[in-house]
Amino acid sequence: MTYLRKPEWLKTNLHSNAEYVHVNKVVQEHGLHTICTSGKCPNISECWNRGTATFMILGDVCTRSCAFCNVKSGRPQLVDPQEPTKLAESVQLMNLRHAVVTSVDRDDLPDGGANHWAETIRAIKKVNPETTLEVLIPDFDGKTALLDLIIAEKPNIISHNLETVRRLTPEIRTKAQYDTSLQVLAYIASQKVAAKTGIMLGLGEKEEEILALMDDALATGCSILTIGQYMQPSRYNVGVKEYITPEKFAEYKQIGLKKGFRYVESGPLVRSSYGAEKHVE
Ligand code: SF4
Repeated sequence: MTYLRKPEWLKTNLHSNAEYVHVNKVVQEHGLHTICTSGKCPNISECWNRGTATFMILGDVCTRSCAFCNVKSGRPQLVDPQEPTKLAESVQLMNLRHAVVTSVDRDDLPDGGANHWAETIRAIKKVNPETTLEVLIPDFDGKTALLDLIIAEKPNIISHNLETVRRLTPEIRTKAQYDTSLQVLAYIASQKVAAKTGIMLGLGEKEEEILALMDDALATGCSILTIGQYMQPSRYNVGVKEYITPEKFAEYKQIGLKKGFRYVESGPLVRSSYGAEKHVE
């Protein structure tokens, strides 16, 4: 396999200030997980130094094993019933104006973890009534009764990532299906909640496939799109096929806005939770 050399624009400085130390302390002391560390996010210095993080609930072991993802896969631990309370306290301690929560997939649980999700949202809102909330959820196999449990708690934004274009989905996301994800987004939007999705570029997709994905997402009622560069997190993950230039990302942003998205965040280092507070406004 040939490895592409990482371009300059993807190199980030790892440095930590007092906020970073505080975020790390809160996360460690409450036994929480973040996608920032589990996903080896390149923005960790920037986000944690600003006092923000994306929490990952339902453990740190995923029942799926997508080719792009760095989260451990296998048999997950028991669900921690205290997690909603711990998370709510952590959001308070970090004084977050906007919180983003995601989870691993829990196909082992009869409800896919939806009830735990609902409890977590309830707990965060109860302790932090002023904090806005984005939840980045799994597909729950498209089961609307499970999605309803989350929608009923009224998070400000519900996000579900398409991750890649239709053609590459079976190879990149293994169990998840492109059409199921579209159905999830359509259902969220139909319930009058802001629906958001995110994709990675550099996996071998073609421009026309990206534009078709934009059309598909817009047709569901999804109004917020994030586009970032895929970066191979370990040698066990699928390789990068192409590094997209910042100029090309900027072009996709303009195309997305012109097509009708209310908000498009597009850049090499953009992740679905990057700068997420702006999307509420
Ligand atoms: S972009 Fe998201 S996942 Fe990455 S460090 Fe920031 S909050 Fe964490």
